[in-house]
Amino acid sequence: LPGSHGRPGWLKAKIPGGEGYREIKDTMRGLGLHTVCEEARCPNIGECWNNRTATFMILGNVCTRSCGFCAVLTGKPTELDLDEPYRVADAASKMGLKHAVITSVNRDELLDGGASIFAATIREIREQVPGCAVEVLTPDFKGDRDAIQTVVGAAPDTFNHNIETVPRLYPAVRPQAKYRRSLEVLRYAKELNPDGLTKSGFMVGLGETEAEMHQTMRDLRDHDVDILTIGQYLRPTENHLPMSRYYTPKEFASLRKYGVELGFKHVESGPLVRSSYHAHEQTSDARKR
Ligand code: SF4
Ligand code: SF4
Repeated sequence: LPGSHGRPGWLKAKIPGGEGYREIKDTMRGLGLHTVCEEARCPNIGECWNNRTATFMILGNVCTRSCGFCAVLTGKPTELDLDEPYRVADAASKMGLKHAVITSVNRDELLDGGASIFAATIREIREQVPGCAVEVLTPDFKGDRDAIQTVVGAAPDTFNHNIETVPRLYPAVRPQAKYRRSLEVLRYAKELNPDGLTKSGFMVGLGETEAEMHQTMRDLRDHDVDILTIGQYLRPTENHLPMSRYYTPKEFASLRKYGVELGFKHVESGPLVRSSYHAHEQTSDARKR
């Protein structure tokens, strides 16, 4: 795996391969789509793609924000691809996906932040791939209630918005976001569709303390979040925020235990966990409760 040199053994994932993996790669190229799996060089790509889970990044690959941990280019996006929802659904169908995750860059320059494209993508997947669960991982839409309503109105199985880190670290990690605003986005999504699952997650290794993480977990529960993901921050390049340290598998297990005790329906916590890792299993597990 590129870049994994010097990492602890538990962070080394298997080199991607297998039939499912290659097939998806070809489909993506053919349809001109972006996946987070590839662009973020996600270490789980082999496992997820072979298990028919993939994360599409819609609305382009240039973001209006500049989060300190993120490898996506910051700039002024130029176009809005209105045909994208159709192509994403087409890809999901060709790949026989069981779980599609739809996420996007921030498009703060658009009136609805891209909410209508999210909604159209959910609807297209529902139509073209009836058995496929749809999860959206959305921006905060600057807290705009109409935008959130547009997305939730299309009835995704899971509404995910990542809190990313503890509030003290927001100025460095998410300079254009607000901790409380993100919590409100999650609460509002649940209020609009109490039957749908809500989900959030954060990274460790940015300098947070245990007490701060516990507080953030309690805040998420207080805002009715059902599913929680916790994973190791890995610095994408030298220009990104430094990593404070690696957490051990034992520490991840103890965070998971704390989350389960707080009443989350599912907690995925581990070094390689990304918000869509085991997304299909997370959803079915949470549904059982
Ligand atoms: Fe893609 Fe998410 Fe799986 Fe990573 S964890 S490979 S981003 S679906
Ligand atoms: Fe990256 Fe999302 Fe932040 Fe944009 S808003 S810089 S895509 S994490």
